[in-house]
Amino acid sequence: MTERIEQIETEARAAVAEAGSGAELEQLRVRYLGRKAELTSILRGISELEPDQRGPVGGAANRARKGLEQLFETRSDEIASAELEQSLAAERIDVTLPGSPARAVGHLHPITRTRRLIEDVMIGLGYQVMEGPEIEHDYYNFTALNHPPDHPARMLQDTFYVEVPEGGDSGGGSQDVLLRTHTSPMQVRAMEATPPPLFMIVPGKTYRRDSDATHSPMFHQVEGLAVGEGITLADLKGTLLAMLREVFGPDREIRMRPHFFPFTEPSVEFDVSCFRCKGSGTLRKGERCALCKGIGWIELGGAGMVDPNVFGFVRESGYEPDSITGFAFGFGIERIAMLRHGVGDLRLFFDNDLRMLEQFS
Ligand SMILES: [Zn+2]
Repeated sequence: MTERIEQIETEARAAVAEAGSGAELEQLRVRYLGRKAELTSILRGISELEPDQRGPVGGAANRARKGLEQLFETRSDEIASAELEQSLAAERIDVTLPGSPARAVGHLHPITRTRRLIEDVMIGLGYQVMEGPEIEHDYYNFTALNHPPDHPARMLQDTFYVEVPEGGDSGGGSQDVLLRTHTSPMQVRAMEATPPPLFMIVPGKTYRRDSDATHSPMFHQVEGLAVGEGITLADLKGTLLAMLREVFGPDREIRMRPHFFPFTEPSVEFDVSCFRCKGSGTLRKGERCALCKGIGWIELGGAGMVDPNVFGFVRESGYEPDSITGFAFGFGIERIAMLRHGVGDLRLFFDNDLRMLEQFS
């Protein structure tokens, strides 16, 4: 009997040494140490042996059992750490490599994205994109755009003037210099440089002494100008509709209403329905909607047919007021971004709060 026990132990040790996985080892453990294992039944049958056999057989069987238990434990640890090594090697990640695809570190500001969207739409309509100076002469900002000398927009409380040092050159003689209040000065500059027909937009920064939920001292405008023969108000309406449909989709309402601007005649303002109160002018609790001031519409911009007086300033460049017509329009890029993204306060765009800006990645 003790020989058989030795045989079992030798066989088990050989099998355990060859076991390659935890599952294999577990099968062997059941075979050699389980309830139905031969060694287990030998131990169970000790009491039925002859009295002089019980001691030696019982001792041998118990030693074999303990030895094998220890062996299984050691081998189990070895296999587990080998399997861990293997999976670590297989799933090895080089953390110094860039992600796939590489994660962008930042993204464009929502105002830049909105400006580019508008540029894309207008380029698609055949317009060219131009830029103009932000520090402008009174002549281009006001005079050539038909603003009479006593026009309120020229007053100090509405406009930032730039002091030209005594004896300094303002760049054009004795003219006043200011931060442009609109992108419209480029209308005159572009017409001076390019004969008709002319189709252009001018996106850029503009400055006014305003600050509230829908106004900021610095803001972005897009100016549009189309000049040629036979251009009418119907072309203006069609162009604005085509653009606003591209930018806002079919859900928003748009209206045009008569207005006055010194450099267009006739002039219109075009509005879009308020996103916060859905055009009703009041909020849920009956409170007046602050964004649209209770009107239900948000002023988007101004437009109109170019006043012949403006063409008078660029007549030498081929803009004969009797034969040339055109339309102009302008609007704030922030307004468009606020409406598109449901942002209630324009100033949030310039606070540089990442919690706000990261929502537009
Ligand atoms: Zn509203």
